[in-house]
Amino acid sequence: MLINFLWIIFNLITPLNPKENSTIAEKVYANLWYTIGEMETNPPVLEIRNSMNCVASYIPNENKIIIETKALDVIRSFGPDSLNALAFILSHELVHFLQKQVEGDHTSNFLSYDVGGALSHRAEKQADIQGSFIAYLSGYKTTHLIGSLLEKLYAAYDLTDKTLYGYPSLNERQFSGEEAMEKAEELIYLNDAANYLSISGNYSEAAAAYNYILKFYPGPDIYHNLGVQYIEEALHLSDHNIDRFIYPTELDPQTRLKKPFKHDGVKSLDILSTIKRANLLQDAQNAFESALKRDSSRGTHHLHLLITLCLSEQLEKASKYYHSLPESIRNQKETKWEFEWIFGIIEALSGNEISAKNAFSIIIRDAPAEYTQIANINRHLVNLKASGPLLKDYSCPL
Ligand SMILES: [Zn+2]
Repeated sequence: MLINFLWIIFNLITPLNPKENSTIAEKVYANLWYTIGEMETNPPVLEIRNSMNCVASYIPNENKIIIETKALDVIRSFGPDSLNALAFILSHELVHFLQKQVEGDHTSNFLSYDVGGALSHRAEKQADIQGSFIAYLSGYKTTHLIGSLLEKLYAAYDLTDKTLYGYPSLNERQFSGEEAMEKAEELIYLNDAANYLSISGNYSEAAAAYNYILKFYPGPDIYHNLGVQYIEEALHLSDHNIDRFIYPTELDPQTRLKKPFKHDGVKSLDILSTIKRANLLQDAQNAFESALKRDSSRGTHHLHLLITLCLSEQLEKASKYYHSLPESIRNQKETKWEFEWIFGIIEALSGNEISAKNAFSIIIRDAPAEYTQIANINRHLVNLKASGPLLKDYSCPL
């Protein structure tokens, strides 16, 4: 909302104000980078140049993404769609940065597509598809823009009716772009469908959709969402409840906790369900480790790996992992209380009942109100020894 407001103000400023240009571009760029994840390398530096060569470019040996003021002029002419157009171009170049991580150095050029450029048609199409999808995950709608954006850029760069070495004709570039947008729209539709399937409890179908998306965009959030489906499916595998505590990831813990509780946990499952649960939790662990490989800065990926380790009874590993995490991860405001919560569960499952109860008591005392009821229930469950419905005597609604 704030960014849109700033952009409207920006559009009212004439002539072009280079400082404002830079501020808006940096904000959009930072949003896109946040979606892509921290990774192990430094993000390319964004630079605005007055040249008129390439619209935008990723230069590997300088680790820079360039966007030209001429291109920003074109982008501004899109009015309410300006941020979307800007996001599409920056995101396209960021995908070239990602490609470099696996394919080696090639300087990209936004206009040079298939004809004589250093990058292949496949790499350019991938940049259009992934770029558009990354922009969508960052809150920008871009798939409707490509035809008119290319038309205006070609006109601004005086390329509309020319055939120059290294540049496809406008029609060729538009055709490739439209094809890429069809694929991007399919990914966006699937991602929305996967989110809906997950909310409605269809975890294996949701997982299939996320797995398909990963073939085109192996981003940390997609791996994370995939891992969550595996956890949820593992939690709901049996007609009985075999997991004593409420976990931070659960959308509907009440339904599970109302099932008859089997105190001997996984041992109560038949052999096929035991194997299926082990596979699901291994897949979940792989998914969160993949998310962490791409972005180790987000507390929620670490938290979900800890949940998976608890559910698969790797308690020693969970405890070591929890204590190895720096304060900067454990204290992130989005997940600070969830880390205390999972610590309580690790301690309870490891037999450290006093420490577990203490963790849940800290949540009840200090955390915001929405955590209180769940912490109360989890504290109540620390000493539970008998089998039966966990919530039978516990009328407090979740
Ligand atoms: Zn490109």
